[in-house]
Amino acid sequence: MKSTAEEPRGRGAERQGSRGAEARGAEVSKGIDRSQQNLVPSTPPLPCSSARLPLGSSAPLPLRASANSVIVAGIPVANLSEDEAVAVIDRLISEGGSHYGAVVNAAKIVAAESDEKLKRALLEADLVTADGMAVVWASRLLGQGLKQRVTGIDLFELLVDHAAKHGLSIYCLGAQEESVRGTVEQLTIKYPTLRIAGYRNGYFDESERQSVCDAIRLSRTDLLFVAMGSPKQEYWMASNVPFTGARFALGVGGSFDHLSGLVRRAPRWMQRSGLEWLHRFVQEPRRLWRRYLIGNTAFIWLVIRQRLRARRHSWRS
Ligand code: UDP
Repeated sequence: MKSTAEEPRGRGAERQGSRGAEARGAEVSKGIDRSQQNLVPSTPPLPCSSARLPLGSSAPLPLRASANSVIVAGIPVANLSEDEAVAVIDRLISEGGSHYGAVVNAAKIVAAESDEKLKRALLEADLVTADGMAVVWASRLLGQGLKQRVTGIDLFELLVDHAAKHGLSIYCLGAQEESVRGTVEQLTIKYPTLRIAGYRNGYFDESERQSVCDAIRLSRTDLLFVAMGSPKQEYWMASNVPFTGARFALGVGGSFDHLSGLVRRAPRWMQRSGLEWLHRFVQEPRRLWRRYLIGNTAFIWLVIRQRLRARRHSWRS
C-alpha cells in the first residue's frame, strides 16, 4: 500500500519564515486560520530560542539554558508538564516558521557526549523533554527536579489529540511500512476527523531526501512525527525540517511500532515506576543490553561529575 498525501482543506493563512532564506523557500501557505482556533490558554515561556547554527559548523555549541530548563549532563531539558509542553508547541506553531523537538533518555544524553552532531541537534532543538525516568531522577539529584517525564510517545498522543481538536494536520514519517500504516489506521479510527496530511516509512536513502521533503511540504502538514530511531531522527530533523514546511516536528522513536500494535508498550505501573526500560529490554535484550548497561552506567558517571563540579564551584565562590 502506498503512502498518502491528501490536499489541505480550509482557509489559507500565509506562514512566516523564521530560519533564513532556505527555510523561507520551503514554507508554504497553510490551510488553517489560527485566529479562529481555540488555542491552549496559558502558555509557559518557550524553554529554548529558535536561532540555529548549521550542523557541522565549527562554532562553539550553543547552550540554550533558560529559567524553564534544567541542564542534565550538558543538555537543557525543558521543565514542563505534559500539558505545558503541548501549550509551548502550540505557541511555536502559531509563531510560524519550522521548529522541532526531541526527547532524551540516559542513553541519548550519553551518546551526545561523544557525538557532536547529535549534541548539536539536541542543543538546536526548540524543545527537549525527558523521555526516561533516569533523566528526571538525575535532575532531582542535581537539585533542580524536573516536574515530570514527558515521553515521546505520550507527547505524540497528546499532540494528535490536540490536532484533532484544533483542526491541525499531521504527517507520520518513519518505521516500517506496516507500522506507519497501522499507526495511521489506528489514529483514523480513534479520531475520525483528524487531518492526516500523509505518511511514509522511514527506510529511504540519502538520494531520496529531496523527494521525501517535497512530499511533506506538498502535504502542507502542521505537525510532523519522525520515528526513525536515535540518532537518525535527530540528525534528520536538524537538517531537513526547514525544507518540509512542517510547523513543528517531533522525534518519537519507536512510537509507531507501539501505536500500530506491533510492539506492546510496558504496563502503566511499569511506566510510572520508571521500569519501562526493563520491559523493552526483556523484549529485545540483544539489541538493548549495551544501551542500558553501558549507557546507564556512563549516565550515572556524567551526573555525578556534574554534581561534583557544581559543588566545587560553590565552594570556590
Ligand atoms: N527506523 C526507521 N528507519 C531506519 C531505522 C529505524 O524508520 O533507518 C525505525 C524502526 O523501524 C523503529 C524505530 O525507527 O520503528 C526505532 O525505534 P527505537 O525503539 O529503536 O527508537 P529509540 O529507542 O531510538 O527511540
